[in-house]
Amino acid sequence: MRIDLHTHSAVSDGTQPPAELVRAAAAAGIDVMALTDHDTLAGVPRAAAEGRRVGVRVLPGLEMSSRLRGASVHLLAYFVDAFYPPLADELARIRDGRQHRTAAIVDRLVAHGLPLTAADVRRAAGSAASIGRPHVADALVELGVVTDRDEAFARWLADGRPGAVPKYEPGTAAAVALVRAAGGVPVIAHPWGRPSADVLTPGTLAALGEHGLVGVEVDHDDHDADTRRRLRALVRELGMVVTGSSDTHGAGKPGYDVGCNTTDPDEYERLLEAARVIARVAGRGGPDAS
Ligand code: AMP
Ligand code: ZN
Ligand code: FE
Ligand code: FE
Repeated sequence: MRIDLHTHSAVSDGTQPPAELVRAAAAAGIDVMALTDHDTLAGVPRAAAEGRRVGVRVLPGLEMSSRLRGASVHLLAYFVDAFYPPLADELARIRDGRQHRTAAIVDRLVAHGLPLTAADVRRAAGSAASIGRPHVADALVELGVVTDRDEAFARWLADGRPGAVPKYEPGTAAAVALVRAAGGVPVIAHPWGRPSADVLTPGTLAALGEHGLVGVEVDHDDHDADTRRRLRALVRELGMVVTGSSDTHGAGKPGYDVGCNTTDPDEYERLLEAARVIARVAGRGGPDAS
């Protein structure tokens, strides 16, 4: 069984509409996938419908932005109840913050002499429910300022570059609690990849585990072989679930193709077991609700 628990569609900053992404997963031999767009569940119904058509189980999910000691930490959440008001409100607040922050990024880049407008970014974002730096990158590609998203990040948008403007994000521990209250399973995404590696120390991961964190994404292309080895050992020692996933963004992130990393079926079973317990306690969400 091939399981990919972290994918993005054009509902956030991936390049494929949800149904097309699910068909790509089916073509890659994926049996179970989670759609985890940034800070929105809006693509899930379309992905799930296509999944039923092509024989892929689509788990409802999202990748929630959070903040820990000044760094952005990405929290995957599976099986949340999308209509739980405290979660829906928080996600709306994060997406609003993304809108304001995009305007600030445009202002900064204009101040640095780039011929960019807010309308260019809106056009690049299309119908995305959640706007982000990759859409600014796409606008810069369209204008011929850079050749691809990678160059846009390296020159203009990565942390420390002129267009790196922080956005509103709830604290990571609060986000973990909110996901569980919504009946969902919280899993930290790519902890030892670029921006969050310094703050997600072994001690902090252990503390988050005490706080209700269920799993940690280990097999991710932002982690090299040695990082995966060390992180896998730590997560096992902490008794948490080990996941692996592509974090595909379609054509937006070459090399991160759907199914390029997968989750072990036994670890997936442990995730489902945790999901059932959390859903029972919360009285909502869970793997049997979808
Ligand atoms: P944001 O959510 O607006 O802060 O933007 C972060 C997103 O940008 C993440 O989903 C990353 O996958 C994406 N990203 C970061 N660096 C790059 C890069 N070099 N090329 C393409 N996408 C990137
Ligand atoms: Zn993304
Ligand atoms: Fe991420
Ligand atoms: Fe992601």
